[in-house]
Amino acid sequence: MISTSTIGFPRTGPAREMKKALEAHWAGTSDAQALLSTAAGVEAEAWRRQADAGIQLIAIDGTLYDHVLDATFQLGLIPDRFQAFKKSTAASASNASNGIAAGLPLYFALARGAEGATACDMSKHFDSNYHHLVPELDASSEPVPDWSMLLDRVKRAQGVVGAERAVPMVVGPNTLLGLARGSFDRSALLPRLVPAYAQLLKQLAELGVPEVQIHEPILTLSGSEELAADCSAAYRELAAVGLPINIVIPYDDVPEETYRWLVELPVAAISLDFLGVPGADYGSCTAQLIAKHGFPKSKRLGAGVIDGRGAWADDGKAARLVASLRELLGADQAISVQPSTSLQHVPYDLSAEPSVPTGLSRPLAFAAQKLAEIVAVAEAVQGAAPGSIQPLDLAAFTGAPEGVQRELPAELIKRAEPYEQRRPKQVQYRPFPTTTIGSFPQTPAIRRARLAFKKERISPDQYRERMAAEIGFCIGAQEALGVDVLVHGEAERSDMVEYFGLKLEGYYFTEHGWVQSYGSRYVRPPIIVGDISRTAPMTVHEFELAQGLTSKPVKGMLTGPVTILQWSFPRVDTTRKEQAAQLAMALRGEVADLAAAGCRVLQVDEPALREGLPLKASRRQAYLRWAVDSFRLATACAAPEVQVVTHLCYSDFGDIMQAIQEMDADVLTIENSRSDNEMIVALAGSGYPRDVGPGVYDVHSPVVPSVGWLADRIRSFLEAGLMGGDATRIHVNPDCGLKTRRWEEVLPSLRNMVAAAALVREEV
Ligand code: GLN
Ligand code: ZN
Repeated sequence: MISTSTIGFPRTGPAREMKKALEAHWAGTSDAQALLSTAAGVEAEAWRRQADAGIQLIAIDGTLYDHVLDATFQLGLIPDRFQAFKKSTAASASNASNGIAAGLPLYFALARGAEGATACDMSKHFDSNYHHLVPELDASSEPVPDWSMLLDRVKRAQGVVGAERAVPMVVGPNTLLGLARGSFDRSALLPRLVPAYAQLLKQLAELGVPEVQIHEPILTLSGSEELAADCSAAYRELAAVGLPINIVIPYDDVPEETYRWLVELPVAAISLDFLGVPGADYGSCTAQLIAKHGFPKSKRLGAGVIDGRGAWADDGKAARLVASLRELLGADQAISVQPSTSLQHVPYDLSAEPSVPTGLSRPLAFAAQKLAEIVAVAEAVQGAAPGSIQPLDLAAFTGAPEGVQRELPAELIKRAEPYEQRRPKQVQYRPFPTTTIGSFPQTPAIRRARLAFKKERISPDQYRERMAAEIGFCIGAQEALGVDVLVHGEAERSDMVEYFGLKLEGYYFTEHGWVQSYGSRYVRPPIIVGDISRTAPMTVHEFELAQGLTSKPVKGMLTGPVTILQWSFPRVDTTRKEQAAQLAMALRGEVADLAAAGCRVLQVDEPALREGLPLKASRRQAYLRWAVDSFRLATACAAPEVQVVTHLCYSDFGDIMQAIQEMDADVLTIENSRSDNEMIVALAGSGYPRDVGPGVYDVHSPVVPSVGWLADRIRSFLEAGLMGGDATRIHVNPDCGLKTRRWEEVLPSLRNMVAAAALVREEV
């Protein structure tokens, strides 16, 4: 009783067709029908690939922007600020023939904002690198469902793969509520959402689908234990419709207490993630849960044994795992072989790559290859003579669930002198020293030069000269503005991870390995394929050029080990922790070289530090231990006189304050301007003793902040009690790097920032 299934597929199209279609639509050069027809083509191609690979139950994936937004939108849970926009577009679209096309202006307004209504917030989807749009609810939220988008997709899919194989998928009501923001009572809202879902299930049953996938990854989180009563009531009501339900729970194992009641839900199938985060040192406990508590014979077990978010092929473990499950649960147990998560987190097709490295410890596999693996695993287990596939010892399968809390060698991660002793030996500042976070505008001229270099139309020397000219310009501009601590501007870096990855041994860069980050924004994570090492200095030349032009300190600028790891596909034959340590050792060499070149202030960015935090509270300490230690391993070799700065952004850091302290950096620059100084108040409240540079303005906005507004921000840091009011320890800087801005915005913004610092300096 072994079958095959998927639970999601890349929605990008094999050649990024969706990105191009969306951007053309937003630019006004193609209409809604053109966009919908491209989307239909991209979706059909994805379904066909799955059918051709031999997948039996195909998840009918597809979205114009984000699948969480799809659910919120089709439930009609539209925040109030969009009501005026909704009315105005509804009036002008009243004679449109296609209901889906008529809804698109509102749909995209939610995603991207509209006149008078800011877009919904974005948030990382569990611990993946995908971002969903955050649903906004309140106590009076009342769904007004219209499931046309999803129903239309299912009808098209039935035409492509046949009604018996097309399985609709939808974000479940518990997960939607779990991801939502607003003041509402979850238990009160859930019974209001469920009838809207029941209506969907009825309509799907009428279309003759074999079952429906309801995705409930929220059940992986610590705390999901408490959803028992609500969740059971909801699923009883949904099951009453009569359409078989497959409840799909990707991204991690479920807590043991949750597992106990999960298996009692009145659903036809339960899909579980057997792998968790690729390269995690704590593994996944799903197999152990099944070994310990069993699994109901009456339900199909969706065995997520093919890695949905790693770039690597299975090494035979998947078949052994399924064989073990079969041995444990009996040959008559229905089991479907499937990926651990949606395949949306991996690139489309490895065979599109021109130069895949050879001699790897095992092959790479992207979405298309993983389909073949699913089918191969099912066939192997199904057709195997008894005993021919050596089963795994399930009880031992996961290793230590809490991870091993081992520290890196103390002598390597400790600075030569403690903070209090070394700080007085470092650069001293006037009150409110000004600085920036690293990058200056990546202008069209810089991009053209990079392309010409890549296409070998200009020589490496010519390229270096152009970058040197950019560096000279940046230094001159900062001198003219009167900034205190300068940067070289990062013109030579297309991306803060790619730049280092290309210079380090052990990395492979794809040409087409795009993965959706959100909407039409795709990223191409590099793949760690071997041991990491540094063969030559990576940033020293640019630092020396810049420092040679000024007597003010120029910051050495590196991306930290955790961030490089977090934005790469890791190896799976060794732990993330091990790979972070290798990256740290490589960076440590660079730190030493920069210091030898005269670097007095050294910034090591770790914007992704918070992102890597495991979903389960019980696993966080171990992660933070090795993440912090890796940062220290990279930086601790700096002499006491060298000031180590770190930069954090993109997340709320309130829950990892202790870890930030333990990073032992001399200066912390942190994104702050879009918050209400929460982090600043928290730092002040905890008596944080080190220099802080809270972001004073948002780099995502083209608006030039005024001197008065900026001065108020700076004053508010003093009012919050930061640094006990010692203004020489409060740095003034933007939230983040300026690479996405134009010089026309950067120059006046920095001029105002420097003027605001001068103004407030007079007051202290
Ligand atoms: N130094 C980097 C820059 O300024 C930091 C970017 C980031 O934090 N994401 O671009
Ligand atoms: Zn940043």
